[in-house]
Amino acid sequence: MPGTELFGEEERKEVNDVMQTGILMRYNHDTLRHNHWKAREFEEEVKKITGATYAHAVSSGSTAIATALAAAGIGAGDEVIVPPFTFIASIEAVLFIGAIPVFAEIDETLCLSAEGIKKVLTPKTKAVCLVHMCGGMADMDAILNVCKRQGIILVEDAGQAFAASYKGKQVGLFGKTGSYSFDFFKIATAGEGGVLVTNDEKAYQLAETYSDHGHDHKGANRGMEQHPILGFNYRISELNAAVGVAQTRRVPMIVKKNRFNKAFLMNALSEIPGIRFSRLPDPAGDSATFLNVFLPDTEAAKRTVEELNKANVGGFNYWFLNMYHFINQWDHLKEMRTASKLTAQLVPLPQDYKKLQLPESQEVIGKLISFGIRCTWTEQELKDLAAKISACVHKALKPITA
Ligand SMILES: *Cc1c(COP(=O)(O)O)cnc(C)c1O
Repeated sequence: MPGTELFGEEERKEVNDVMQTGILMRYNHDTLRHNHWKAREFEEEVKKITGATYAHAVSSGSTAIATALAAAGIGAGDEVIVPPFTFIASIEAVLFIGAIPVFAEIDETLCLSAEGIKKVLTPKTKAVCLVHMCGGMADMDAILNVCKRQGIILVEDAGQAFAASYKGKQVGLFGKTGSYSFDFFKIATAGEGGVLVTNDEKAYQLAETYSDHGHDHKGANRGMEQHPILGFNYRISELNAAVGVAQTRRVPMIVKKNRFNKAFLMNALSEIPGIRFSRLPDPAGDSATFLNVFLPDTEAAKRTVEELNKANVGGFNYWFLNMYHFINQWDHLKEMRTASKLTAQLVPLPQDYKKLQLPESQEVIGKLISFGIRCTWTEQELKDLAAKISACVHKALKPITA
């Protein structure tokens, strides 16, 4: 979690620029702001890293994916294929724009598979909300193929895969729109923030208008612009954007260190019989924020987690039993417990979320343990960690004798 690992002079400098003028809003106040436009700079930094034609910063990764879906034309009653393994924000975004989540299987990439998508297609399928999980990437060629053949829209939630790529193209740019999160737990942080990217001019214009009450932002007279559409307030503040600018500049260095540290651990652990790693469709494009280890099965993974806890090895996630990232823990969704009625509660649903059978996803997440990679590890810390993990896995996989 480099966002929480690296924080210093650079971040303070950018924030101080804003503090000196007191212009905390991203729009207008041209003379008072002494040419400090932190949200715009944040967007430029994201464009530099991703190569996106357009980037638009908003208040969170959650509002970024909601805006990405809306700007791609997805709305009330549309069926959107989603994964059962993601931060719940992706599912909430689909529900809160009035669309209907349809769950499909993931595979050992930890992302939706083309086969999984094909199995849940209906005549009402409008889009796929593809989530690139744990710093890696989905199997893009196969997924693009299905979307193209079926004429469905692809939107990417790359909330935790900023700076990951597939065959030289950054994830987030394969679909009509894509989003990144810069919350406190991502590769770089703005405190709270998200960025939407697209190469589609019309989608960009919709996104930047939608995320600010429909203002078209033409001219310099705040409030007197045209409002071509209804929107809402998903604006990022200049203070958060300032942190995002400094943090995003660190990302190329962070990725380099992450990759080195991950390769070190993989090399050390690859000796252990019985473990494998998650599949990266393009290993060279890994942002390397997680080392994703597969144990032989769920029971072996649970025993390994016990050993890791006994040995006080922190910094790993067992998503199968984690509160937020896997469908097994989403009772509120299965029972549709909401503050107020959603579109999904007004229409017949194509799936009964309580009775969903996703055996492949259960198997993949059951056997998965993800270790967060730190970019600040020393070689000694890496060696110690590898030795500890190795010892725990050996204990857990040792044949049980009476
Ligand atoms: C973190 C995350 C989000 C939400 O981002 P916030 O900035 O916390 O709102 C959305 N999708 C995925 C896949 C994430 O990991």
